[in-house]
Amino acid sequence: MKIISRSQWGARPAHSVQKVAVSDRRRFVVHYSAASPDQTPKAIQAYHMHTRGWADVGYNFLVNADGEIFEGRGWDVLGAHASGYNTESIGVCFIGRDRDAGPKVLAAVRWLYDEACRRTGRTLTRTGHRDLAATACPGDELHVWLRAGMPVDGPPPSPSPSRPAPGPAVPFPLPSGYYFGPKAGGDRSVSGYYRRTFKGKADRTWLAQWAGQLVRRGWPAGKGQRYLRRSGRDGIYGPEYQELIKAFQKDQGLRVDGLLGVQTWDAAYRNPIT
Ligand SMILES: [Zn+2]
Repeated sequence: MKIISRSQWGARPAHSVQKVAVSDRRRFVVHYSAASPDQTPKAIQAYHMHTRGWADVGYNFLVNADGEIFEGRGWDVLGAHASGYNTESIGVCFIGRDRDAGPKVLAAVRWLYDEACRRTGRTLTRTGHRDLAATACPGDELHVWLRAGMPVDGPPPSPSPSRPAPGPAVPFPLPSGYYFGPKAGGDRSVSGYYRRTFKGKADRTWLAQWAGQLVRRGWPAGKGQRYLRRSGRDGIYGPEYQELIKAFQKDQGLRVDGLLGVQTWDAAYRNPIT
């Protein structure tokens, strides 16, 4: 494959350039533009430089829906794509939305990854932007593909919506406008602390059941696990449940408020596993 150079696609000169040693690169971060696949690298560069006020287009490389690779900041320049991780990572942006990335795109991104590993002499950590920040980027499909090891042989991986969430969906048990939240949150904030009953079951039973659904989806939640480490699935809302709910909301691209309302509840049953 070849990389379309900045001069070939008519890039504007960067306002400033900060070099990064190849030995500092340890990570490969995939993004999506979350906009029309027809957007050009020039348009993205203009947006980053004029609207965002950055020195240049933020990514090290961009890949369009035809699988064409465009040089952004390139291999050895500091990007602006994943706050806190720009020095250690090469950032690649797919120009398009979730589920727009076909086999040509996957092949191009994989080629860039292999090339980055070759140039750095190490196996770079494969990361989606959402693994580093509270964002839905790079969309479920690319994220699943990254987690699967970026396979390019054979048929493309089935997009995640075709994978049903395990177990039957359980409707949100609280009245409209209510949510599972802190005990000091007022009447609509159901904590499990006051032992209220909804649809025939105790509030803590419901909250524990929702956490159990996350466990079925592969989340490490329970005594001694990453989440709910100390209290386990006791169904009483506290800092540990808040942390788990926030992490799940972030993973799903939902508003991250740590409160378990109907949207977050349903996402555990309806949304694809990521
Ligand atoms: Zn991103």
